Amino acid sequence: MTKATGDGLECPACGQDGSGVTNSRVYNGTIHRRRQCRSCGHRYSTVETHFRPGDAETIAHLQERVAKLTKAVAAFLDDESPKG
Ligand SMILES: [Zn+2]
Repeated sequence: MTKATGDGLECPACGQDGSGVTNSRVYNGTIHRRRQCRSCGHRYSTVETHFRPGDAETIAHLQERVAKLTKAVAAFLDDESPKG
């Protein structure tokens, strides 16, 4: 079951605004969402986290986050892969 979010996020495949969230999960302090485009059906993932603008360590913090997220997303996608 998908639900329109209307959050203005564009599909990376067709560029249309409008996707449904098929799965959400909190992982390591971030929120991962699996989305499916309502126009073309393309499935993709988004990750939400926070940062503090003006923080001198923001860039380093985000780089550290990205490194963790790379592993987290791989695990997330692997969970959804058909087994066998
Ligand atoms: Zn699309």
